[in-house]
Amino acid sequence: MDSQSQDVAGRVWRSHTLWDDLATLCATGGRFAGTESEVRARKWARARLAEAMGAPVHAHLVAYDGWTRESCTLFGPTGQALKAHSLVWSPPTSSSGLDAEVVDLGRGTAEDFEASAADIPGRIVLVRHEYMFATGHVHRRRKYQWAKERGAAGFLIASPLPGQVLVTGSSGTGAADDIPAAGITQEAAGALGRTGGRHARARLEIGVRRAPTTTENLIAEIPGRGPEWVVLSAHLDGHDLGQSAMDNGSGVAVALEVARALAPLVPSLPRGLRVALFSAEEWGLNGSRQYVDGLPAAERDRIAVNVNLDSVVGSPSLTALTSGFADLDEFLHGAAVEVGIPIRTFRPVMANSDHYNFARHGIPAFRLVAGFDEPASQLRYLLTSADTLDKVAPSELKTAAMVCAELTQRACAWPRPIAARRPPLA
Ligand SMILES: [Zn+2]
Repeated sequence: MDSQSQDVAGRVWRSHTLWDDLATLCATGGRFAGTESEVRARKWARARLAEAMGAPVHAHLVAYDGWTRESCTLFGPTGQALKAHSLVWSPPTSSSGLDAEVVDLGRGTAEDFEASAADIPGRIVLVRHEYMFATGHVHRRRKYQWAKERGAAGFLIASPLPGQVLVTGSSGTGAADDIPAAGITQEAAGALGRTGGRHARARLEIGVRRAPTTTENLIAEIPGRGPEWVVLSAHLDGHDLGQSAMDNGSGVAVALEVARALAPLVPSLPRGLRVALFSAEEWGLNGSRQYVDGLPAAERDRIAVNVNLDSVVGSPSLTALTSGFADLDEFLHGAAVEVGIPIRTFRPVMANSDHYNFARHGIPAFRLVAGFDEPASQLRYLLTSADTLDKVAPSELKTAAMVCAELTQRACAWPRPIAARRPPLA
C-alpha cells in the first residue's frame, strides 16, 4: 500500500463521522420517497455531501409517479384484524374492500403457481417473501406478475420471520390491470391458511393517493487530472416500515465517509470522483435511470466505472455483483489483497440496484453488497420493519468503508481501463 493509500485508510480507520452519519440518517426515519422523512434526509445529505467533497452539490430533478399510502387494513376469516402494509404502487380497493378467498401458494415459485392454477382466478394469492441475495431467489415482483396473469384478485406476501415482522416492497407499475397488494406478517399468513379443506376468507382495504411528483438525485464532483470519472453511488431513499438502516443508510454513510477521506487526494489522481446519492431507487431504480439515460453519450463514455453501495452491512462478508464485466475481477481482487479483506465476485447481470442503469449502457459497474448467499445474516431483515440501526455492527460498517475507500481510490488511480466497455443492453 503506498503512502497516499495509507493516508486515506488511516483517515477512514480513525473516523468517528461514519457511525454518526448512519445514526443521523436512521433518525430521519425510513426515507420513503415522497415523505417528510425523505425530504429531511435529503436536506441533511446535501449539506453533508458538500462538506465532505468541498464542492457544490447539484440537485438533479427526478419526476416519477408519486404514490402515498393512506390506509391498509386486513381482516381474517373470523373478522380479526391482521397486520398488513400495502405494497408500493398498489391500486386502492373499492371503499367496501376486496372480500375474497385466499389461496396459499407457499413460497410461490413458478411450479407453485402452475400446480394451483385452477384455484387462483378471483382469489387473493398468498406467497412468501424470500431472502433477496441468494442465487435461487424468486423476486416478489415476479410472483406478483404471475398472480396478475393468472387472474388473481389480490396479492399478499408474508414475511418468513416470526415476531410480527411486516414486509414491504413495490408491486405493480401503475398499470390499469394492477391488483391490490400488501405485505403481511408470518403470523397473519398463519391465520389465512386452509382449514378443513376450505380456503380462508379475507377482506383487504387499501386507500392510496397518486399524483405525479418529483424528488432529487444529489451529485457532487471533484475533477482529477484527466477527463474520466469514477462514479461512487448509493441510494438515499428507503421504505417507511423501519429506518432503512442497512438498505441503504449504510451505503450512504460509507459514500460520505469515502468522499471525505479521498477529497484532498482526488485532484492529483488521473480520474475524478463523482458522488451520486440517488433517490427513487426503491421505485424501479428510477433516479439512477433518469440520471444515466439523461447524460449525453460523450459524458457516459467518460465514466470509467460505477461503484454502487447498497446494503453493505449485516454480514462481515462483502460481494461485488459485477454485471457481466469479467475483467472487474482482477481489479477487485487486487484491491481485496491490498486491504487484506476478501471480496467475492458474482458475475451475472442483476437489476437489483442503481449500478444496473450504468451497466445497461455498457459502463463497467458493480454493486457492493454484504451477506450474499447468507440467508441467516442480518440482511434477512431488509424490506421489513426490523431494518433498524441495532442490526448494524460498527465493525462491519467500518470494514465496508475501508474496502470502498480502497476500491474508489484504486479506480481513480488505475492506469488503464478498469474493465472493457460493452455495447448497451437492449
Ligand atoms: Zn437498496
